[in-house]
Amino acid sequence: MATNRTLTMIKPNAVEKGYVGAMLEKITASGFKIVALKMTQLTLTDAQEFYAVHEGKPFYEFLCEFMSSGPIVAAILEKENAVEDFRTLVGATNPEEAAEGTLRKLYGETVSLNSVHGSDSDDNARIESSFHFSRREVFK
Ligand code: ADP
Ligand code: MG
Repeated sequence: MATNRTLTMIKPNAVEKGYVGAMLEKITASGFKIVALKMTQLTLTDAQEFYAVHEGKPFYEFLCEFMSSGPIVAAILEKENAVEDFRTLVGATNPEEAAEGTLRKLYGETVSLNSVHGSDSDDNARIESSFHFSRREVFK
């Protein structure tokens, strides 16, 4: 069953560059409602768990080190067709290939430092949301 919710993380490079406000504005202006929100920092172990599906890939170690290198902003977003529509707003993994107006085109630097995460399925949205948020931190 579709949950109409997705999980996003504004990645350390985008937080460091001061893009949090602009990115949240773009996200809400695109029709997503923020139902959970926090600034936090992953430990290396957290990042390895979050990205376990990529273990063994050449970029895995750098990805986990980068994602635990500084604060991130995590949020649960609600909208009809949230997972797919948010992936569209995020754009391609490589900012150079991302469509005009997408978050990665606007705020991404490189394929590694692409500014934002978006869940790729309803199942992963649920898993990733409970990774970051307790029930008391999620609102209607
Ligand atoms: P997406 O974030 O678009 O779903 P993936 O799930 O394939 O992309 O990869 C997770 C993250 O790993 C990407 O957002 C990016 O930060 C990093 N990554 C993916 N592919 C590469 C690559 N070829 N080189 C460096 N980093 C990569
Ligand atoms: Mg992915």
